[in-house]
Formats: sequence, C-alpha cells, structure tokens
Amino acid sequence: MDKRVGVLGGGQLGAMLVEAANQLRIPVNVLDVGHSSAKQVSSIGTHVEGSFKDRDAIKQLAAISDVVTVEIEHVDTGILEEISGTVDVQPSWKTIRTIQDKYAQKEYLHEHGVATAKSVPLGTASVEDLEKASSILGLPLMLKSRREAYDGRGNYPVKTKEDFKHALEALGGNKSLYAEKWANFRMELAVMVVKTKDGVLSFPTTETVHENSICKLTYTPARSVSDAINRKAQDLARKAVACFQGKGVFGVEMFLLEDDTLLVNEIAPRPHNSGHYTIEACRVSQYEAHLSAILDLPLRQEDLELREPAVMLNILGGEAKDSHLQIAEAALEDRWLKVHLYGKGQARKGRKMGHITTKANPRNPTPQPNSPQSRQNPS
Ligand code: ATP
Ligand code: MG
Ligand code: MG
Repeated sequence: MDKRVGVLGGGQLGAMLVEAANQLRIPVNVLDVGHSSAKQVSSIGTHVEGSFKDRDAIKQLAAISDVVTVEIEHVDTGILEEISGTVDVQPSWKTIRTIQDKYAQKEYLHEHGVATAKSVPLGTASVEDLEKASSILGLPLMLKSRREAYDGRGNYPVKTKEDFKHALEALGGNKSLYAEKWANFRMELAVMVVKTKDGVLSFPTTETVHENSICKLTYTPARSVSDAINRKAQDLARKAVACFQGKGVFGVEMFLLEDDTLLVNEIAPRPHNSGHYTIEACRVSQYEAHLSAILDLPLRQEDLELREPAVMLNILGGEAKDSHLQIAEAALEDRWLKVHLYGKGQARKGRKMGHITTKANPRNPTPQPNSPQSRQNPS
C-alpha cells in the first residue's frame, strides 16, 4: 500500500480515484494545471503543475511514482513509452495509443474478432471523401473525429447529402475524421471491466441514456434486458478488454440493436462516467478496482457485484452560472440521493459539473407521482 501512484489528468475521474486512494492512504500525485478537481481532494503537497501532455512535467511525475496511470486517454503516448523503461505504466502505453485514435481502436477490435459499427476513414476532410464514405455506409451516418473526442464533441450526425459541408465545418476543419455506419440501437449498454494481473473481471451491465451524444443517465441493472443479453454484453465487454495489454479499469460502451445484436461503440482505458454508480452500489467502486488492479491488491469477481439497484444522473452546466448548484441543492432535500460535485469552477453549458446517484429506497420502493405514499415522510 506504500507504492506511489502518479495520475495524468486532474479532472473528476482523477478526483474520485484520489478519494478512493485516500481511504487506504495510497499516495497519489496528480499532474494537471492549477487547482484541478483531483488536487482539491488531496493535500499531498507533491502534485505536479503543468499540462498532462508536457514532456518535462510527465517525467517529473514519473520520478516520484512507482506506477503511472491516466484519467484521460488524450495524452502523449510517446512520452509514456519513454518513461515505461523506468516506471510501471498502467494500462500499457500501447493500449492507450490504440484506443486514443477511435478509428485505430475500431480496426484493432475488428482484428481481434470484436464486433463494432462498420467504419471508413476519410483520406481528407473533404466533401468528396465524405461522399465516398457515405456510398459505402449509406445515410444517415455518424461523422467522427479520430482523436481528442469526448462527450460527443467530435461527433456530427449526417442525415442527408445536404449536411456534408456543414458536418465538415462543424468538426472544425479537423483533418483526421472517420465515418461510422449509423447504429439503429434500441438501447446503449456499458460494462466496466477490470484487468488484473490474473485476468479479467467485470462490473454489472449498465444502461446508459445519452442526449445529444452526451451521457445523461445510467440505470443499473439495465432495464428490460434479458439474462441472455446481459450475459452476451458481459462476454463481449470482457472479450474486448482482454485483447488489450496492461492492467486497470476499462469502460466498454455498447449498442444493443433491434435484433439483439451487440456492437462495441468504444472503449475507455480508465474509469468511466457509466461506472460512477459503483461508488454507492457495489462493494468495491470502479476507482478502488482501478487502484487494486494497477497495484496488484486483492480483487475478486464477487467484489464487483451489485448490492442495490442504482440510477445515476449527470449534473451538466446549464443556462445560468449556478444552475448546477441549484440542482445539487434541490437533491439534498432527499438524502437517498448522493450528490457529487466536481469543483470545476465556472460552468459551461453541457459541461459535466457533478452527478447524483440514487439507490432503491427499501421503505418506498416505487413511489407513484402524487400518491399519498410519495408525499408522506417515512417516520
Ligand atoms: P465519450 O464521452 O463517451 O467518450 P465520445 O465523444 O467519444 O463520447 P461516442 O461514444 O463515439 O462519443 O458517441 C457518443 C454517443 O453518440 C453515443 O453514446 C451514441 O448515443 C451516439 N452515437 C455514436 N456513434 C453512433 C452511431 N454510429 N450511430 C448512432 N449513434 C451513435
Ligand atoms: Mg469517447
Ligand atoms: Mg462514448
């Protein structure tokens, strides 16, 4: 437990990782600029100031770490490759390199027999090349940035030929794009998979609900999913993660199509939004599981089982500067709701500012709106 962990990135995922480490007094140093979320929850005093893409800063972090890990995949894997000669990098820089390019990730999964939506890289970000891709994939399709994508910011749904020009402009003249066949899913599922030194473990299957390509809600267990589909989702997620090198937690996002086919949408080589619920609803959270995996601490499949059903709601920045705080305050009226705020300062519209998790209330399992039961306070 005395091994020092270094984390590239100090956002909310890093903060929740540090919170889990604090309980076990695992020393974690964070590399990011300023008073980031993750630095706010630790007074260790040796955090590294700088960009998580900066060569010198990463080397400085490596020098005070036994294991270096990431809370974001958009890092410089060339530098991770370099430091891996002197410090343990988990998961492997090779894994992060493949995954951070969403098209390379798709190709890799395809080579390893993991089903994904058919994808076509664009030679150039031109109407001609998008036209070529659409003749292979049909319309609608999803135009995506290969790199630096998150919360749907690198995505543009292309419905008709008239959208071509606008889609290319909307993705900021980005040179590195690919087109993905539209997935007519009936539901999105996610599984957090843990790769340890001994093998692959998995958390329950979660249903994720996205609005405008950004995760809004998760339900665990997934609603109206048969045991057979649940098993298929678990198997696919484990198979997908098993083909990558290194240890740690991975978030596997999947599409469940109308005919019950499952496709992997994408993989994150780190803790993930769809696994926040594990903090309250599982014996071991995704953050504790990540630390356990990278530090070779004991972890068993039964530790990841669901204790109680849970719903997670993201708190996004709204129209007003303090909309997110108003939501958090309102949620505190009901102490079955667990409120997490990320301390990100200024809210932008659509920015993830916090989340709320609720577990089933055994005293009031299914309150009906306006029923006497829902208005009654349990005494
Ligand atoms: P994240 O924040 O999860 O990293 P991202 O920016 O990498 O998101 P994706 O996961 O590729 O974006 O897509 C975001 C959402 O957009 C998906 O969860 C899904 O709702 C929708 N979407 C993505 N690809 C497709 C597709 N091929 N067909 C239909 N919908 C899609
Ligand atoms: Mg992504
Ligand atoms: Mg995604």
